[in-house]
Amino acid sequence: MALLVLENFIAGKFVPCSSYIDSYDPSTGEVYCRVPDSTKEEVEAAVIAARDAFPGWSSRSPQERSQMMKKLADLIEHDLEAFAQAESKDQGKTITFARTVDIPRAVYNFRFFASSILHHTTECTQMDHMDCMHYTMRTPVGIAGLISPWNLPLYLLTWKIAPAIASGNTVIAKPSEMTSVTAWMMCKLLGKAGIPPGVVNIVFGTGSKVGEAIVSHPDVPLISFTGSTLTAQCIRESSAPYCKKLSLELGGKNPAIIFEDANLDQCIPTTVRSSFANQGEICLCTSRIFVQRGIYYEFLKRFVEEAKKWKVGCPLDSTASMGALISKEHLEKVKNYVTKARAEGARILCGEGVDSLDLPTRNQNGYFMLPTVIAEVKDESCCMQEEIFGPVTCVVPFDTEEEVIKRANGVKYGLAATIWSCNVGRVHSVAKKLQAGLVWTNCWLVRDLNLPFGGMKASGVGREGAKESYEFFTEVKTITVKH
Ligand code: NAD
Repeated sequence: MALLVLENFIAGKFVPCSSYIDSYDPSTGEVYCRVPDSTKEEVEAAVIAARDAFPGWSSRSPQERSQMMKKLADLIEHDLEAFAQAESKDQGKTITFARTVDIPRAVYNFRFFASSILHHTTECTQMDHMDCMHYTMRTPVGIAGLISPWNLPLYLLTWKIAPAIASGNTVIAKPSEMTSVTAWMMCKLLGKAGIPPGVVNIVFGTGSKVGEAIVSHPDVPLISFTGSTLTAQCIRESSAPYCKKLSLELGGKNPAIIFEDANLDQCIPTTVRSSFANQGEICLCTSRIFVQRGIYYEFLKRFVEEAKKWKVGCPLDSTASMGALISKEHLEKVKNYVTKARAEGARILCGEGVDSLDLPTRNQNGYFMLPTVIAEVKDESCCMQEEIFGPVTCVVPFDTEEEVIKRANGVKYGLAATIWSCNVGRVHSVAKKLQAGLVWTNCWLVRDLNLPFGGMKASGVGREGAKESYEFFTEVKTITVKH
């Protein structure tokens, strides 16, 4: 079959590139797509396009921008199935996840920010004794550099593009080189939605070439990045000479804390989902499960039984709960953690290899792995400290509330946490003490996009949400008028 060849989207036009990167179908291990291997020249062209488009776009009314974004949302929704199929093939995730989570959320990101941009107000204070009043004004920052990872490709890219353009900025966006297809598909719809050329430019390629060129470009004053903590360090260094505005959404090592009074009938299936959804490749996935000693063995038994039911299959199998991991290298990295845990004396209760799976011949070289549960692992182990970002979760016992808070906080990350208990007072008190930007109690991944999203410690800098993204993508000015 002919390979799919992507092109950059600059100034409203598709532009071929002189060199390309192979992109693999994770479920077969075969190259199926070629992604532009762009360089700083393409980034420069995109900066010029974004700069030219900025005066026109930023002077449109929020209502006009909102209308176009709503139209774009409708167009993506109209092609939802095609987008879902493409996302599933490109990333390895199940078609069900792409259909029910990734693409609907990308649609909703545009609808949400198209609506929220109409509802912001600025501040005004008065100083009568000085005959003065003060008010604040917000203006778009300029050209926004947006860089996103491979786990939720269109979902996370649109979570940045939508607030950036709603606020009047123009953008240069770069999805992961491993998952570029749906961003390219979206480019075909921008003109149809009425979004003028140059407002959204997408330059495909690697982090070391395109990402670095965006981050170190003096005319891109703002970078919104979602990805690993390690890459964020490079971004901070490269952008430091330019004093850029930075939003960094990074990794996690998220604990679930399960108290003896938890409703296990709800907790167990939700914790299996929070550990293994999207192959465990969600920054919010649970990877350390602390269970109060009185229910530890019961929990473990039921949790492992439930994890074994979590079906690994070809992404297009609509009965599969888990598809393939993103790449051969990533699969190796994830499996290595299990090998290390075993060498340290931990017990692997289920999971790892896929020999038992009945996969079609063409999928035999796909990057599949079973949901893996590790027990009897020490808190100092790399499996309990480092982000694995795969279908691996550790389960350990605890005795007291005070102890579990200390242990849950005992990692460098601080993104999300989950608490399971029927004691309302305890839920509030533990939530307050956890070092995490998001705490779910008796549920997981229930989101209101109005509210702040983001992490503490090595999990990030800044927050995203209706108000937070608006503030990030605008500059505020305080004006004083004496009368
Ligand atoms: P990554 O850091 O390797 O890459 C992310 C993006 O940055 C890619 O587009 C990549 O090409 C680009 N990049 C790489 N080096 C760069 C550089 N020097 N300069 C500029 N850009 C560069 O991350 P990944 O492996 O794609 O994604 C997985 C990570 O993302 C995990 O750590 C996960 O927790 C994190 N993540 C966080 C959130 C969140 O909201 N907090 C959401 C999803 C994923």
